[in-house]
Amino acid sequence: MATDNKITRKKIKSAVAASKFMADYYHELNAASERGTPQIAWCTSVGPAEILRAMGYLVYFPETHSAMLGATRMATELIPEANALGYSPDICSYLTADIGAFLKGVTPLAKIYEGINGIPKPDVLVFNTNQCRDVQDWFSWYGEKFNVPVLGVYTHRNVGDVSNALVSSIAEQMKALAGSLEEISGRRLDLDRLKEVVKLSRECSDLWKQVLQTAASRPSPITFFDATTLMGPAVVGRGTPKAVAIYKGLLSELEERIRNAESSIDDERFRIYWEGMPVWGRLRAHFELFAALNANVLASTYCNSWIFSRLNPEDLFNSMAEAYTELFIVRSDEAKEKYIKDMLDFYDIDGIIYHDAKTCPNNSNCRYGMPQRLEKQTGIPSLTIHGDLNDLRLVSDEQTKTNVEAFIEQLEEAKG
Ligand code: SF4
Repeated sequence: MATDNKITRKKIKSAVAASKFMADYYHELNAASERGTPQIAWCTSVGPAEILRAMGYLVYFPETHSAMLGATRMATELIPEANALGYSPDICSYLTADIGAFLKGVTPLAKIYEGINGIPKPDVLVFNTNQCRDVQDWFSWYGEKFNVPVLGVYTHRNVGDVSNALVSSIAEQMKALAGSLEEISGRRLDLDRLKEVVKLSRECSDLWKQVLQTAASRPSPITFFDATTLMGPAVVGRGTPKAVAIYKGLLSELEERIRNAESSIDDERFRIYWEGMPVWGRLRAHFELFAALNANVLASTYCNSWIFSRLNPEDLFNSMAEAYTELFIVRSDEAKEKYIKDMLDFYDIDGIIYHDAKTCPNNSNCRYGMPQRLEKQTGIPSLTIHGDLNDLRLVSDEQTKTNVEAFIEQLEEAKG
């Protein structure tokens, strides 16, 4: 099989607007941190951002910062700093890289954005354990450092059916959270403002979903690797009109690509689904590896994580509780398998890559027989690659290359 094709990455024009969005976002946070106003809340990536925004906080997401540490390949050498404090090299490398960066006084924000020298200081930290327990430890550490309150929503995990009882218990926690924030900030939660934010968040989510679904076209106008960076505004900007505008522009660009049958890679022969986290420090390398084999990694569970279709401005707390509990990462294996099967069908997938990220068991779904069960049910083969989201010492480029090449060859043979 030829692997010496010249690989060109087809630029998405709207990426410029998305990058400007991110630059403005970090500059606004930086200015607020220096002035001390407006107040800043740190939030987990699938935490209750709408409540925080509606209460007038600017919202900062440490996970996005840590993904930047990964993408800039700063993370690996920072992780040992946190290990020295007792945070194991086996736990979340977002946590260890981010705390390591803080201890060393470095940030990719300073490299990327002129005039920014550090991360924004929190006035309060708010986590949701819907994704993992690591976020609680991570935020508690900063709570102590900055001497500010740390609040949490505790979500059950391994959820099968999202029952009414579960939704109402989370909704009650969210109401209590709002009450605590009112006490801490001295401001009232304006329900009309919350309605507006939830409406915008839902709009952003719907557009982001439509953007990702353009990949169902053959050839796909977008790759998973494009989506991992384009998703920035959906993660940090949901609930704002600016994020909505970004995705309107992106969607219309991708629709134009579809009309022109413009593919995101040359000669798309194989359609691949990515299950698990990206390897942030290898986005380009992995794009090139697959594209050279005419394999388009075009859809993923990961980028779908910021689709919150249950959000409903007419049923604020229940719908937020439902949206943040029906997420893939919160669910039982049975629910996850059904979800992946639907995705394989929708995107007309030839093969699945499972990324077994050593430090994130929560986003690695290949450890308890799921690939084998799904292959038996769908006939779609898979490959597990071993690596990590941030710690490049756990990534073997040679082994990944050899295994991916053999896997695509297997798909080629199956096509006949
Ligand atoms: S889900 Fe994984 S990567 Fe994300 S914060 Fe939790 S352990 Fe870290």
